[in-house]
Amino acid sequence: MSELCTSFINGGWTSGDGAERIPVISPIDETLVAEIAQADAAEVDHAVRAARKAFVAGTWRNAPVSKRQSVLRRIAALIREKVDVLAERECANAGLPIRQIRERHVQRAAANFEFFADFIGQTANECYEQEPPFLTIVRREPVGIAALVAPWNAPLALATMEMAGALAFGNCCILKPSELTPLEFVPLFELMKEAGVPDGVVGLVNGSGPVTGAALVGHIDIDVVAFIGGTETGRHIARAAGGNLKKYVAELGGKSANIITPQCDLERALDAALVSIYSNNGQQCLAGSRILVDQSIAKDFIDRFVARAKNIRVGDPRDMATEVGPVISRAQYDRVLSFAAGANILTGGKRADGFDRGYYVSPTVALAEDNATPLCQEEIFGPFATFLTYDGIDQAIEIANQSEFGLVAYLWCSDMPTVMRVQDALQAGTIWVNTPLARDLRAPFGGYKNSGVGRTGGLSSRNLFTEEKVVTMPMQDFPIAKLGLG
Ligand code: NAD
Repeated sequence: MSELCTSFINGGWTSGDGAERIPVISPIDETLVAEIAQADAAEVDHAVRAARKAFVAGTWRNAPVSKRQSVLRRIAALIREKVDVLAERECANAGLPIRQIRERHVQRAAANFEFFADFIGQTANECYEQEPPFLTIVRREPVGIAALVAPWNAPLALATMEMAGALAFGNCCILKPSELTPLEFVPLFELMKEAGVPDGVVGLVNGSGPVTGAALVGHIDIDVVAFIGGTETGRHIARAAGGNLKKYVAELGGKSANIITPQCDLERALDAALVSIYSNNGQQCLAGSRILVDQSIAKDFIDRFVARAKNIRVGDPRDMATEVGPVISRAQYDRVLSFAAGANILTGGKRADGFDRGYYVSPTVALAEDNATPLCQEEIFGPFATFLTYDGIDQAIEIANQSEFGLVAYLWCSDMPTVMRVQDALQAGTIWVNTPLARDLRAPFGGYKNSGVGRTGGLSSRNLFTEEKVVTMPMQDFPIAKLGLG
C-alpha cells in the first residue's frame, strides 16, 4: 500500500501545486506506506477560508440539534461499519496491535461521536433571576473555526474526541494529524462526508508541525486551538494561539506514578500495572510508567512483573495475538533504547529478538535508585517500565509529586482512609484507584503542571467550543431615571 495523502478542503481531496512530498514509513517493516502532500501556508489559508465560508453560510451551526445529532450518530455507525479498513490503516502506519485498535481505538472513535450527540441533547444553559425582576439567560454559540492538532500515538481515538466536540457545538474544524499517521484519516473524512457533514465544515491538512501545524495554529482567522501532543510543542502552540488571543487547550505529556500499596489485591494490581505501561506499545500519555512499590512487597511484586514482561508476545501488530508491536519510528526506537544505557535493567532494554526490520523494542523493566534520574523524570514513551521502591505511603506521595508532569496517577489500595488521603495529596488531573485507564467522557480530562492547560470532556468541551452570550431583560416594567426633562 502506498498512496498520496492530500488535504481535504470543501468536501474534496486536493493539494497545492508542487506540494512537498513527505514519506510515511511503516514501523512494522520500514517500508514506504504512503506519502503526504504537505500543505504549506497558502494551502492552510485555503482550508481556513473554506471553513469560514461554511461557518458564515450557517448550514451546520444553525442546524437543529436533532439534525446535528443524527449526523454525528451516522458518523459513529459508519466508523463501526468500517472497522476493518480503519484498523488496517492505523496498524500499518502507527504499528499499534490490531486487536487493540479494533477493540479500543475504533470503538472509542465511534463512542466520541455518540457521546457528544447525546450530550448536546441534554445540556442546559444557566438562567438567573434577580430582584427587581430581571431575567438573565446565558446563551452559547459556536466559537467559529477550530484548529485541531493531533499526535500519532492514538490517532483516531484522540483526533475524533476533538472533532466530535467541535462539531457537536456547531463549529467548523480543521484537523492537522501527525505527519507519521495520515492513512486512517482518508476513510474517516470520506465517511464523514457520507454521513452528511456539509462541505467546508470539516477540513484536513497534512504535513509537518513546523510547516503545516504552525501555519494552522498561527492563522489569524482561527478562533480556538485544541492540541494533543508533547509538552515542548504545547509551549510553541500556546505562544501562537496566545499571540492571536485565541482560546487554547492542551493535553500534553506525562510520567504517571502507579502506587502499589501492601493493602491491595496484588494480583489485580500486577495485571493492571502491565496493562498501564505496555498497552499501546507503551506509547500513551497516561502510561503508568513510574511504578512505586512499598518495600515490604517490592521483591515479590517486581519479580512477578519481570516474569510477565518477559512473556509478553512481541510481534507483527497485524497479528491478532500480538500484545506489543513496534514503536512508531527510528527516532523513537533510538530514544527509548537510549534510556537503557547505564540503567539497572531487569529485562529488555534491547531490540526484541527475531526482528531484522522494524522498530521492535523488547518489553523493558528497570529498577531506579532515585526519583531524580532521567528514567523517572522524562517521558520515555515506549514499552519501558521503571520501578522505584518506597518506605511508607507518605514517601510514595512525595515521590509521585516530584515530577514536572501531573496528568494521571494510579493507586492500588483497599484501605479507604488511605485512599482518601492519597487522592487528596496527589497532583494529577485524574486519579485512578484500583483500576487502569477508565475514562468517563462526561468528566474533565487534562493535566496539572506541564501536562496541560485546560480540560476536555463533557462540560469542559462545551466551554471550549462555545462562546457565551448573556442576555438580560426585565420581566415587568420598572422605573427608569428620566434624564433631560429639565
Ligand atoms: P508532538 O508534540 O511531536 O506532535 C503532536 C502534533 O503537533 C503533531 O501533529 C505535530 O506535527 C504537531 N506539531 C509539532 N510542532 C508543531 C508546531 N510548531 N506548530 C503546530 N503543530 C506542531 O507529539 P507526538 O510525538 O506526536 O505525540 C506524543 C506526545 O503526545 C507525548 O508527549 C504524549 O504524552 C502526548 N500526548 C498527550 C495526550 C494527553 O491527552 N495529554 C494524549 C496523547 C499524547
